[in-house]
Amino acid sequence: RFAYVNGLYLRHAEAVVHVEDRGYQFADGVYEVCEIRNGRLIDEALHMARLERSLRELRITMPMSLPALGVVMREVVRRNRVREGLVYLQVTRGVAPRNHLFPAEGTPPSIVVTAKSAPSRAGDSKAEKGVSVISVPDNRWERVDIKTVSLLPNVLAKQAAKEAGAYEAWFVDADGMVTEGSSTNAWIVTADGKLVTRPAESGILRGITRTVLFEVAKAAGYRIEERPFSIAEAQAAREAFFTAATAVVMPVVELDGKPIANGAPGTIATELRRRFHEFAAVAPAR
Ligand code: PMP
Repeated sequence: RFAYVNGLYLRHAEAVVHVEDRGYQFADGVYEVCEIRNGRLIDEALHMARLERSLRELRITMPMSLPALGVVMREVVRRNRVREGLVYLQVTRGVAPRNHLFPAEGTPPSIVVTAKSAPSRAGDSKAEKGVSVISVPDNRWERVDIKTVSLLPNVLAKQAAKEAGAYEAWFVDADGMVTEGSSTNAWIVTADGKLVTRPAESGILRGITRTVLFEVAKAAGYRIEERPFSIAEAQAAREAFFTAATAVVMPVVELDGKPIANGAPGTIATELRRRFHEFAAVAPAR
């Protein structure tokens, strides 16, 4: 395996960053995860637009032009011979003596790109069974709209899910409403077949899969309601599911120990999963 680190393609085992990297010391950085199918990047333009926004919000400079970044991502995918999988990209504020203040002007941001194979059939077999979710209090900061590598609450939530025998955790805000999953956006289907998901204006990351699923769902004739929902509403819903580049559309069959509907993956979630890639933008291989 190979990884790109600050201008070099290194063997994965030897791909390291400096001990005084701002990402290591302060989680002072952002990332993107992009799906790869048939060796192609899925929804690259949307991921790159969100990367630019995350960097702008944190006042970290873009490490290289978007076309150059595209070349690096493709090269990492190629060198790792990934056909189905994920490419991971991380940018931090760079290497500087530890100090909360930003480093001196001109300090170059650090950039790392990795890629790994993750056969889509593995996700498909998980989706055929559906997954369990637990709820946890949302104790994150207010800027969860930025895709930062500062993910401690998300790490603790995902681990709590695993230890409870579940696969994902959904955060619940102070008003008792679901915000999103530890690394996914949360959705339910109402009795009359409407898709409900929280507005991206507060409390969530604007997932790229979420954005694209709006188009998929509309084309399939579904109505979408952007509004918050509670755990109780989700437990009583016709279906529940979550979205992410790493999961596409994943049916949720149990929430805090209660089965959703008959405890089997919903037909609408299953249809949306099947149809997702009809709408996902496929970028050329090079
Ligand atoms: N919310 C959070 C907190 C996430 O970490 C992710 C995945 N990075 C998502 C939602 C889903 O985003 P996307 O569809 O772009 O993968």
